[in-house]
Amino acid sequence: MKPLNQLLRANIQNLKPYSSARDEYTGSEGIFLDANENPFNEPYNRYPDPYQRKLKAVIGKLKQVDPSTIFLGNGSDEPIDLLYRAFCEPGIDNVVSIDPTYGMYQVAADINHISVKKVALTADFQLNVTELLQAVDQHTKLIWLCSPNNPTGNCFKEEDITSLLNKFDGIVVIDEAYIDFAPEKSFLSKLNQYQNLVILQTFSKAWGMAGIRLGMAFASPEIIKVLSKIKYPYNLNILTQKKALELLEHKNQTDEWVTLLLKERQTLANELVKLELVEHIYPSDANFLLIKTAEPKKIYNYLTDKKIIIRDRSSVTLCAGCLRITVGTPDENNTLLKALKAYSS
Ligand SMILES: *Cc1c(COP(=O)(O)O)cnc(C)c1O
Repeated sequence: MKPLNQLLRANIQNLKPYSSARDEYTGSEGIFLDANENPFNEPYNRYPDPYQRKLKAVIGKLKQVDPSTIFLGNGSDEPIDLLYRAFCEPGIDNVVSIDPTYGMYQVAADINHISVKKVALTADFQLNVTELLQAVDQHTKLIWLCSPNNPTGNCFKEEDITSLLNKFDGIVVIDEAYIDFAPEKSFLSKLNQYQNLVILQTFSKAWGMAGIRLGMAFASPEIIKVLSKIKYPYNLNILTQKKALELLEHKNQTDEWVTLLLKERQTLANELVKLELVEHIYPSDANFLLIKTAEPKKIYNYLTDKKIIIRDRSSVTLCAGCLRITVGTPDENNTLLKALKAYSS
């Protein structure tokens, strides 16, 4: 990896961050007359902890990483955007991304005026390591990976990811939004081995907390310091931090959901494969199935008319004819199957 100070934008490196009242005094007891808060309406009158210390301590324990390697954001969307803002000079730097993948890497790049060099996955949805490395030039700061990948649903081979981590001298981001559903292990245990590794995870999927907006980035303490320096000081509100702490006490609930959803994914696949309209079901390591059909748009519209909403991915690279279906409750999945059985072209 290049030294961090060569990868970071100069203005970010030289940035003097905002210093809040709660930076200067960090105790929780006392008479707080330092932040111009209203003294009434506890606890909502108080600014939240800008460093989310309690939440990071609990998440650190759960993930078995040091809190200094954790960044918490308003969904994964926030660290995605901050990585561009930290490393990529608008109009000059670029990133390399796999194709197809999650749409936010492109949108956040466009907002930050950064070009994205897309490298198609192989026909079996694996990484083309050689082409990814060939796409890199002197202005490439980040490589975006997503494993299990959205919308293809599969994990990438560990040795391919490792190869990119070893050979690319910039930052490799692995978005593990769906890792809780995958049989493969997270790259979190390799955080100490690779200074150029950033891992994204989220509370939006397995944890069932998309509504509270809580995303995680894991990286070296040096990278985490940079992200923390450029975030909005109070990026996670009190309600989100409180609710997350509450839900984290019920991890067995999440485990139960994951077990049920994996079982339902299998049931759904077993039933879908019997339908004539389904040409192929791609193997999934996530909480959704990607299926190939002859008439994706017609099926999508048919289901929408019945108030069953799925995702049409047929215009995406390598996904001609493809529909993406999130695994729902047993009832929801049965309703979907019934509707599809009644479909005729
Ligand atoms: C759903 C999803 C996320 C979650 O984003 P949040 O902002 O945390 O809700 C992240 N990455 C991928 C690939 C996803 O599909």
